[in-house]
Amino acid sequence: MWQKRGWFMSKIRTDKLIARYVVSDGRHFRLKQIDPRGTDGFKTDKGFAEQVVQEGVSRLRDLQEKLYAQDRWGVLLIFQAMDAAGKDGVIKHVMSGINPQGCQVFSFKQPSAQDLDHDFLWRNLVCLPERGRIGIFNRSYYEEVLVVRVHPELLDKQQIPRPLITRHIWKERFEDINAFERYLARNGYTILKFFLHLSKKEQAKRFAKRLEEPEKQWKFSLGDLRERERWNDYADAYEDAIRHTAAPHAPWVVVPADDKWFARWVVAATVVHALEELDLAFPELTAERRKELERGRRLLRRERGSQ
Ligand code: ATP
Ligand code: MG
Repeated sequence: MWQKRGWFMSKIRTDKLIARYVVSDGRHFRLKQIDPRGTDGFKTDKGFAEQVVQEGVSRLRDLQEKLYAQDRWGVLLIFQAMDAAGKDGVIKHVMSGINPQGCQVFSFKQPSAQDLDHDFLWRNLVCLPERGRIGIFNRSYYEEVLVVRVHPELLDKQQIPRPLITRHIWKERFEDINAFERYLARNGYTILKFFLHLSKKEQAKRFAKRLEEPEKQWKFSLGDLRERERWNDYADAYEDAIRHTAAPHAPWVVVPADDKWFARWVVAATVVHALEELDLAFPELTAERRKELERGRRLLRRERGSQ
């Protein structure tokens, strides 16, 4: 069925397919419900897959033009994943057609001394997208309940007063994140949080490629192998974070990531779907603006006539 041309346009089918990856109520969510290798029968050659992703990208481009012109809604896309899951590739492909003026990408790495001298949301707040734009966070404040949870010694580096670090800290962070995202949604921001769900086996394959292929060697880091040893702890942390922070206004999308093209398609389709839910349209012309355009036409005609 995937081979049919124009299937992406078939909204009903697309909606149904992406729905299984969207978590908007996390209470019963389990990571094992989603197979990282699952491609929904999407087994096809790279050329076709590219074409399908391109189709999504061009719809995204049209929607983004309206988003920008209307200048009301804002969009925040968060990408989280284990190393080598393909965050960079997804961001590059899905956003490839978009007007760079309407889109900004921020990568959140280990916090700086200045970051650590603030509350944990601070460095994210200053990077939020303006209205009319799509903001992409390549990692985000979610690291505060992921890497920091797996390595609680990182908490010691944060300048938090000791009495405030209790066994409730993760639950409190979930509450704060939820309150923050609700606040953003109430201000007209659409939020989508993507977890690129890679299998441990596929990660090993990708690390092996990084070690062998000259054009990939720059990506290899021994640190990534050390984090891999904590795979199960990360899986638990991701599952718990998704369970506690999925919401209808800020859903998680758990994207099977072993097949890069399938992951790109799921992300493109989900973003398109979310933008279609908004009442995006080019701004209506006011009477005054109409008059201005008419004057413009007259002036241009006159100038051309006199040439
Ligand atoms: P890539 O490896 O594809 O270039 P990346 O996102 O893994 O991308 P790295 O520079 O390898 O980038 O790693 C960034 C590191 O910063 C990650 O290990 C991440 O866990 C860590 N990090 C991000 N935010 C925080 C945070 N708030 N506290 C502690 N560590 C963080
Ligand atoms: Mg990395």
